[in-house]
Amino acid sequence: MKPQQTLGFAEHFIRPAPGRVSGHFGAQRIYNGTPGSAHSGMDIAAGAGTPVVAPAAGRVVFAEPDLYLTGGTVLIDHGHGIGSNFLHLSRIDVAVGETIDQGQRLGAVGASGRATGAHLHWGMTWYDVRIDPEQVLAR
Ligand SMILES: [Zn+2]
Repeated sequence: MKPQQTLGFAEHFIRPAPGRVSGHFGAQRIYNGTPGSAHSGMDIAAGAGTPVVAPAAGRVVFAEPDLYLTGGTVLIDHGHGIGSNFLHLSRIDVAVGETIDQGQRLGAVGASGRATGAHLHWGMTWYDVRIDPEQVLAR
């Protein structure tokens, strides 16, 4: 049987939450004076509880309410190797295996895990390569 494919990759991506962009992809982070890894996604400053919606259709492949570093975490497979991850969520409204539409609520902004304040971290991958969500939005 052929695995089910989603067509989310072909859609125009939308922002998953409103708010100011507070962190850019690739920015070098400094922890206690020591350079850390480059920032792997885009941060959107939004108040705790702000709805987070799917930027494109896909299938939920991971949903955990409270991981040590990333807090409430959801991963969506948009098909053809394109994935999104949403970190530090205060709540999760989807379950693993669920197919979701573009614009459908998947959770809410929070500050769970290692986060200094409420914001949405949105990361994107193409297979195992991290890509910049801002570039995807700009297309
Ligand atoms: Zn971030």
